[in-house]
Amino acid sequence: MKNLSSVTKLAQQAFFSSFDYVFCDVDGVLWHSHELIPGSRDAIAALKSLGKKVFFVSNNSTKNQDVYYAQLKTAGFDLEKSDLIRPPIVMIDFLKKRNFTKEIYLIGMASLRGELEDAGFKISRFNLDNPEESVPKYLKTCITVDENVGAVIADLDLNMNVAQLQKAATYLNDPEVIFITGGSDRKLFFGPGQLAIGPGKFHEILEEMSGRKPHCLAKPSSELNDYIRGKLGVEDASRVLFIGDSIPEDMGFATNCGYQKLLVLSGLTSRDTMEKWEFPEELKPEYYVESLKVVWESLSGSK
Ligand SMILES: [Mg+2]
Repeated sequence: MKNLSSVTKLAQQAFFSSFDYVFCDVDGVLWHSHELIPGSRDAIAALKSLGKKVFFVSNNSTKNQDVYYAQLKTAGFDLEKSDLIRPPIVMIDFLKKRNFTKEIYLIGMASLRGELEDAGFKISRFNLDNPEESVPKYLKTCITVDENVGAVIADLDLNMNVAQLQKAATYLNDPEVIFITGGSDRKLFFGPGQLAIGPGKFHEILEEMSGRKPHCLAKPSSELNDYIRGKLGVEDASRVLFIGDSIPEDMGFATNCGYQKLLVLSGLTSRDTMEKWEFPEELKPEYYVESLKVVWESLSGSK
């Protein structure tokens, strides 16, 4: 791994000539909870002015597509709504291709529920306002199934409780019920000092209880890449650069897809974590940068 800002101009030019597509993560790369990371907007604009095709690939499902897109536009990023690729969009495409008409049991935030409903899907209702306190009531509520449910979708839900998780596990006992997960991040980075538990561990519990593997429609799964390549018509994976701040999700996704990798240290991954590197060797990027500001400085010749 080399620091892009420490290599020769010639090496930087060779790097920037080595890809046509840029797939860029959002949280921790462009901003932290909407606070723009200095230089990120200029870097994306500079890559676009070089003729790179830029797409944004985020695991974030806590805001819907319209809101997330509007926030990027307001922050000054130049993009079309379809340039933003997130698990809910891929889930909808996945279910529509299968002509799915049954109900979905969802562990997810209200925005994801809304996106699925807007796409025409019915979400199974499960009232948890009064968590059951006795075992018989718990069993009656959580170890029974509604036969109208044909899919379980598990994503990030900051209000999830054990009963909800149990209900999902119960549905997954039926092999006919489709098992889909969104982002399975183990840790979520909302900004400096704001590291939170991600949904990945809960998805593992569902896998263990059901003995099944989900269709993971988020980074680092290559099932997300099937969607991307189908939509964008990318022919040569080696001409794609993935920029991200998470080693398991972003560098993992790029590795699974055969993309080039650029790790930024402006989000989830600290310099210390990178230097210790307790991840598979193949996830190592060729280059890393402190933040996208380095990309902008390199392309604008301002440093
Ligand atoms: Mg990120």
